[in-house]
Amino acid sequence: MAVATVLIAGAVLNLKYADGVAAVPTPGEAAKYESASANASASLMRLTKNPMGKAPISIGNPATAAALEALTSTRPTTVANAPYNAKNSSDPSLDIPSAPTSYKKSLRVHAGDTLSKVLESAGAPAQDADAAILALKGIYDPRTLKAGQSIAVSFSPSGLNGEQDRFTGFEIPLNYATRIAVAPAPEGGYKAYEFERNLVTQNARADGVIDWSLFQAGSDAGVPTKVMAELVRAFSWDVDFQRDIRKDDRFEVMYERSATEDGEVVHNGQILFAALTLSGERKAIFLHTLKDGTQDYFDEAGQSAKKALMRTPIDGARLSSSFGKRKHPILGYTKLHTGTDFAAPPGTPIYAAGDGTIELAGWKGGYGKYVQIRHNSEYSTAYAHMKGFKSGITKGSRVRQGEVIGYVGTTGRSTGPHLHFEMIRRGVKVNPMRVKMPSGQKLQGTELARFEETREAVKEEWVALAQPNQQLAQR
Ligand SMILES: [Zn+2]
Repeated sequence: MAVATVLIAGAVLNLKYADGVAAVPTPGEAAKYESASANASASLMRLTKNPMGKAPISIGNPATAAALEALTSTRPTTVANAPYNAKNSSDPSLDIPSAPTSYKKSLRVHAGDTLSKVLESAGAPAQDADAAILALKGIYDPRTLKAGQSIAVSFSPSGLNGEQDRFTGFEIPLNYATRIAVAPAPEGGYKAYEFERNLVTQNARADGVIDWSLFQAGSDAGVPTKVMAELVRAFSWDVDFQRDIRKDDRFEVMYERSATEDGEVVHNGQILFAALTLSGERKAIFLHTLKDGTQDYFDEAGQSAKKALMRTPIDGARLSSSFGKRKHPILGYTKLHTGTDFAAPPGTPIYAAGDGTIELAGWKGGYGKYVQIRHNSEYSTAYAHMKGFKSGITKGSRVRQGEVIGYVGTTGRSTGPHLHFEMIRRGVKVNPMRVKMPSGQKLQGTELARFEETREAVKEEWVALAQPNQQLAQR
């Protein structure tokens, strides 16, 4: 038996590895649940909930202690791939590899796959795979497995010529914080564990000056693309992302970020605050959770960032950058007609600019594939040159604001893939930039007071995050 002494969160743990290292919690991770071994009857199933929640792993955590105890094995163990830093060890035996290294095969789940099919395709004998899957009962339902998920299947080399490597379990990461692991149980059969990483949620702030692309400026400031795409979506009601973004405009963004205790960022969450300064005019929005639990963005005054109609009714993250050029290769004729053009790759989703009823979805001369939506007695919007319609988008069907109605194409009289967007007021085409858009919800009374508290707290945090020593502080 090899015993490694590891320093985790200030506590010294003596860890005894099973030769199936699959289920050993990594530092900063706590076992939440464990199942009975697969050969025990279901009525004896033990479900141990970690009462410490996300508390760091420690010797005082009963669930963790139980999980580690369960992994005790009398077999010679493999330490070469133990998930702990051997430098922290005071045990000299760790320097002498005593057994061949166990290894993992990583597989991706395809549509129609079952867990047993995946395990068997990795090389697990059917009987062992079934026993391991049985151990999941009460912890994880293998029928919830989805295409695209990854599974790491563990094996221990037999060390003998011609003999098959031994299947020793598997791991399924459920999300950035949680993973399920199945490993051999000391009493025979298999045992399943659920591990949760201890994550530190700390907000991140970034800002920058746009040189030639909003996304490039975001990337230069270290903001993930996903967060920039969310920023674009949050401002799409108010900003025409094809035309309103110019050189020397600015962006600011504060968003949730989860990291391991070692500082590895594992998840970027919602935007809490964002601002765009466009041609000198600053627009700021703040995330606010209403009393009924729904969340929305509001401007400084508590006015919803949503408008009755979106100015950018397309996935703005995929717009072709046009500013800095005198003439866009596709949109060079923008001013010559009554619509607004958004250049984007073919297939880019197009959104309904507002709630409404489809008046027309079909071919319309030079417009090519065309959709018209009636929003109310006053306003309609139209979308042209589409590649195709979303299924279900037919005359008379109802659509919600932001719902995908079709995809960017270049059908009809068009010089390249783009969305031609028209706003029609009382039957007359109008310039969307000149329309004073009816605005959405305005917070009132106690809801407004709650919002103002949130807004001020966010502003304080924004300032505090600018201090380098604060960026490392835990919230
Ligand atoms: Zn056009």
